[in-house]
Amino acid sequence: MTATTPGIAEPTPEQQPQDERPASRVVVVGGGPGGYEAALVARRAGADVTLVELQGLGGAAVLTDVVPSKTLIATAEWMTIAERAPELGIRDGGVPVTDAPPGARAHEVDLARVNARVVELAAAQSRDIAARLESVGVRVVDGHGRLDGPQRVVVDRADGGGRGDGASSSSEVLDADVVLLATGATPRTLPEAMPDGERILTWTQLYGLTSLPERLVVVGSGVTGAEFAGAYNALGSHVVLVSSRDRVLPGEDADAAELIEEVFRQRGMEVMSRSRAQSAVRTADGVLVTLADGRTVEGSHCLMAVGSVPSTHGLGLETAGVRTTRSGHIEVDRVSRTSARGVYAAGDCTGILPLASVAAMQGRIAMAHALGDAVVPLDLQVVAANIFTAPEIATVGASQRTLEESGVRYRTSTLELARNPRAKMLGMHDGFVKLFAHATTGIVLGGVVVAPRAGELVFPITLAVSQRLTADDVAQSFTVYPSLSGSIAEVARTLHHPEA
Ligand SMILES: Cc1cc2nc3c(=O)[nH]c(=O)nc-3n(C[C@H](O)[C@H](O)[C@H](O)COP(=O)(O)OP(=O)(O)OC[C@H]3O[C@@H](n4cnc5c(N)ncnc54)[C@H](O)[C@@H]3O)c2cc1C
Repeated sequence: MTATTPGIAEPTPEQQPQDERPASRVVVVGGGPGGYEAALVARRAGADVTLVELQGLGGAAVLTDVVPSKTLIATAEWMTIAERAPELGIRDGGVPVTDAPPGARAHEVDLARVNARVVELAAAQSRDIAARLESVGVRVVDGHGRLDGPQRVVVDRADGGGRGDGASSSSEVLDADVVLLATGATPRTLPEAMPDGERILTWTQLYGLTSLPERLVVVGSGVTGAEFAGAYNALGSHVVLVSSRDRVLPGEDADAAELIEEVFRQRGMEVMSRSRAQSAVRTADGVLVTLADGRTVEGSHCLMAVGSVPSTHGLGLETAGVRTTRSGHIEVDRVSRTSARGVYAAGDCTGILPLASVAAMQGRIAMAHALGDAVVPLDLQVVAANIFTAPEIATVGASQRTLEESGVRYRTSTLELARNPRAKMLGMHDGFVKLFAHATTGIVLGGVVVAPRAGELVFPITLAVSQRLTADDVAQSFTVYPSLSGSIAEVARTLHHPEA
């Protein structure tokens, strides 16, 4: 990361504080979406903002997690689309693809080039964020930040430089009126399956691979495990997905998870359910994964996707009276306040909901609250989320499980994607749209879209949930004919209830 330590630019007129009080001093620790979005908001509100970042702007979201994984998945998605070519009447180089020998692929992936693109795209995005922060006058300090009481952050500078004040020569002391902790999380590791960065890998180490793993064992079938298993399967690896649960994606809509597991199997993936991995060790030419029941699975490589741990160790939380949960996450309320006055926290270090969009929202809310702007507390009911498998699974609002558990009277309807005329034309077979509406008022409570590009398609349902529209409101809105979104209006029509 390049050190950007610009002087504080003159605030533009709209950045000028309303009165002559000195600008609030805001120190943000962590430059991921939770941190950098908050820094921009604070600067816009006229605060004097310093952001401390250890590794690179954009955080894990940009450098190792969201951006790299979704860039890799873009290549995998292209491979999946290409598989539909014969059905749509396309020949490859004049030879009908259907005439190819079994197992042959019309296209092959050059993983070295794919990963070079991934790394460059992530670095470019990080540079863009650095430039944006610099242009509005946020001071960026490279180093490790920790609290020394609620109103002071000590930075151990990456470049060894410092501005003293009682700290060691390589550290800098930043006094603050407001501190935001947005330090994120790192991959969880198991002592008996320690990643070596070559054969046993965390998701942050995948982008060093220069050739496709022949046989990739993915341990963990949550969102991260399922996304990478699906992607590598599409790219051409043989994938074994080791899941300790009954089915993949245990926290997600049961119908959607069942469909994805079925698609995985159809595409040749080995899904091992109720199989807990106990250890992973290197062999002469690969990896041996041993399960809790003694069975073993061999692979050329193993991806450990067994969750994350919050980066809250060594942050000096105790010096400021910032409380954490038993899992080490920082306790926050819906306006991102911690237990220490003036100290806020946002993003994965809080464990509220590990999504970049939620981290950014928590950061913005924190700054609005701290700097006296209008605040709308975090509402998880309106968060839209997407799992980038093929097909994708997008969800918003209440899930079927929470509706069942809460006892709310609701109606639901599901429409298979295969019935949609545009899906037929595009050769899309797997997927559905499911809506939940209140049984009496008809208000849309939530929905699930399983389809290619479901992450884009879910937006009308997000609008309906956040604006408390009824299923009739959705049903009566025009959709393009033919379109995939037509299925959303159609499923809403099936929820029409004369008394609603
Ligand atoms: C493989 C994968 C794919 C994902 N895909 C998606 C997706 O598609 N969509 C989505 O919304 N979410 C996705 N997520 C989740 C998303 O990455 C996180 O929710 C998001 O990164 C959280 O942002 P953050 O700001 O809390 O932390 P981070 O992005 O982790 O940033 C924290 C930053 O703080 C820095 N830091 C830590 N400690 C210190 C310290 N003491 N001093 C200075 N700096 C410090 C770190 O270096 C890091 O740069 C994905 C996660 C994974 C693992």
